[in-house]
Amino acid sequence: VSEYSMKNHAALMERAKKVVPGGVIGHAALAPAAHPRFYHRGEGCRVWDVDDNEYIDFMCSFGPNLLGMNHPRVERAAAEQRALGNCFTGPTERWVELAEELVRRIGYADWALFQKNGSDATSLCLTLARAATGKRKILVADGAYHTTSPWGNPSKTGVVDEDRAHFLYYRFNDLESVRRAVAEAGDDFAGLMVSPFKHDAFVDQELVDPDFARGLREICDAHSALLMMDEVRGGFRMAPRGSWESLGVHPDVAAWGKGIANGYPLSTVVGTESLRPIAAGLYSTGSFWYSAVPMAAALETLRVLDEDDVVAHITKVGTEFRTGLDSLAKTHGFALRQTGPPQMPLVLFEDDDGFAKGTFFTTDALKRGIFLHPFHNMFLSAAHSSDDIAQTLERLEASFAELARAVSDGSL
Ligand code: PMP
Repeated sequence: VSEYSMKNHAALMERAKKVVPGGVIGHAALAPAAHPRFYHRGEGCRVWDVDDNEYIDFMCSFGPNLLGMNHPRVERAAAEQRALGNCFTGPTERWVELAEELVRRIGYADWALFQKNGSDATSLCLTLARAATGKRKILVADGAYHTTSPWGNPSKTGVVDEDRAHFLYYRFNDLESVRRAVAEAGDDFAGLMVSPFKHDAFVDQELVDPDFARGLREICDAHSALLMMDEVRGGFRMAPRGSWESLGVHPDVAAWGKGIANGYPLSTVVGTESLRPIAAGLYSTGSFWYSAVPMAAALETLRVLDEDDVVAHITKVGTEFRTGLDSLAKTHGFALRQTGPPQMPLVLFEDDDGFAKGTFFTTDALKRGIFLHPFHNMFLSAAHSSDDIAQTLERLEASFAELARAVSDGSL
């Protein structure tokens, strides 16, 4: 613990601040000040920051590292494609192969379009909904994160009211609130966007009530509006073929990203047959959208996802993590609120104003080589083994003890 240093970090941040506004902005900055911002390398579920501090990583790049860093099979597939070329004037065979794979995999998908970021994909869903229905109003869950674009950016900096003129808000798992928003939209209701479960930062997560999911489908059908699913975060962690597959509730379009190519930049919108002509008529492109390396990586990632039964594995190790944390917390006199699916756990302390306990705990954990998040859901990967979880819990015992000391001596 005493060797833990952030010296290189501090120097790099000084340099960054001179040439990058804020030094590091974005989701890396969505963490307490003590959390590292700059990384040097990664392998499996371990990452090393620029001070060579080693961590067992429970953030997985906020999702993309589904199989773990530097996965040999994915890297081989990417390298093979890279040797042939990445960025051409048009797509390669991988474009068709990956679309075929998504259509085969995802029950309701009859076609796929590719983009780079989750934000591209969710925004494209809205464009599709409006183009398909000729209507304008979009319903989104209050507090849900779907994009950096002005229509949904959590910050209002640089956003004008007109950017959000046609948005109405409902509460996740609350059909009455959906009905109210639909009534307000009147005959202008184009579509509703929903996440597979409520995974907003800072507050408890909520799994979906199956009646809510079914109710959304009925409401959208009754009003000829599109049901749009944001699978960017939950996709391929909740289930390999669609997070609501087991409920039998299918969206009309869905946005996927993050884990799809194990860290390579790629997102996709998939949709149903009736939307094909509308999708074909969009003007939607980007300089890097045909890039073949991420598509080769995605094809291999999806093969590994099935062959290694990754969802079952991350559910198992996530449950071990959750159970172990609960028992450690209890031993040291703390109560945790653990919510959401175990493979994407959110861990909050009870009675924790301003996340003071969470921040103390996760900051102490860093010094013991464990990278946690105090108020955002975390992510398990295929590379987290039961041994890694055991090692994590062993080290976190000390962090709970430190926290108990800080609470009892009044320093917290
Ligand atoms: N939707 C959800 C649910 C997300 O979690 C995110 C990213 N955190 C996005 C959309 C946007 O994806 P990206 O950051 O790749 O643009």
